[in-house]
Amino acid sequence: MRKHNFYAGPSTLPVPVLEELRDQMVEYKDMGMSLVETSHRSKEYDEVHNAALQGLREHLGVPDTHDVLLIGGGATLQFGMVPMNLLRAGEHADIIVSGSWSKKALSDLQTVASATVLFDGKDSGYTSLPAAVNPSSGAKYLHIASNETIGGVQWKDFPSTGDAPLVADMSSDILSRPIDVSSFGLIFAGAQKNLGPAGVTVVVIRKDLVASGRDDIPAYLQYRTHADKNSLYNTPPVFCIHALSLVMNWIRDQGGPAAIAKTNQDKAALLYTVLDENPQFFHCPVDPNVRSTMNAVFRLPNEDLEAEFVKGASAQGMVGLKGHRSVGGIRVSMYNALPRTSVEALCAYMKDFAARHGE
Ligand code: PMP
Repeated sequence: MRKHNFYAGPSTLPVPVLEELRDQMVEYKDMGMSLVETSHRSKEYDEVHNAALQGLREHLGVPDTHDVLLIGGGATLQFGMVPMNLLRAGEHADIIVSGSWSKKALSDLQTVASATVLFDGKDSGYTSLPAAVNPSSGAKYLHIASNETIGGVQWKDFPSTGDAPLVADMSSDILSRPIDVSSFGLIFAGAQKNLGPAGVTVVVIRKDLVASGRDDIPAYLQYRTHADKNSLYNTPPVFCIHALSLVMNWIRDQGGPAAIAKTNQDKAALLYTVLDENPQFFHCPVDPNVRSTMNAVFRLPNEDLEAEFVKGASAQGMVGLKGHRSVGGIRVSMYNALPRTSVEALCAYMKDFAARHGE
């Protein structure tokens, strides 16, 4: 029996995708071998590769002004690759530090160039976002994390940046809702939440930024290399890209990102309602205006109760609820593929747990 899987990533994938992968694992389309055993230059792989890129273009609504790239190395590599490509000596970028992931991005950015921190959520314990954003003079871009996976803080409307391109780490909420790609200079996202298994990172980048990017860094680190070779400069993570292409089909079957966004809103509302209706027992520290639909975080009255909560949930088949080791508490990850019934099961458990352990 499959568990109710609330892991933050790697995380639950659509069952039809897993079944299709299983069915194709030993022999892919009468080839006498699996897809992961054939050349990445084969006709069969080429079709899969292009279907993955096409599916991303379709669901994200990528205009002709932008390239879609598939790169290895995780979203973490992008923390370095973005500044290495977009900044030259003496140039700087702006960044909004809204939690652990933008903090990591800042740290890598500073190894390459200087950064102006426009907002740092440290004083509020990374539970809020700035109401207004004023780009610094001469900034080459502004970096944000559209959803902080650990802190549960999500941008609802993206900041306007004037002339500087907006760069967004969308690792944990890509394709969870429709977005206007034309308002971004660069978007990147590791696959292992809403796109597929870990191992590939999607980069959507404005073509003029590819063209003007630095060319005095190693080939693999230049966006130009991947754009020029249709993301086949070297051996791509073929299994992950195959799985991603199947997830794109699944998203189409669900009615696309607009329909998925409705379901995500609905799942998140169920969860946050239980928190709000039991304020003496559950405490969500995040500003209600920026609560994430993907990762809801909350505390119980003490750590012993939190440990008991996680243990009891696990006994009922609900896993992955322990908050990130850096912050503790409880975290409920509700990515696209998490069924509504899993959230319903968790909400019932939460109400029961509060009734049993509350005052
Ligand atoms: N950014 C965000 C928002 C993340 O959630 C993560 C991973 N959880 C990363 C970056 C790092 O991704 P990766 O492990 O693929 O390098």
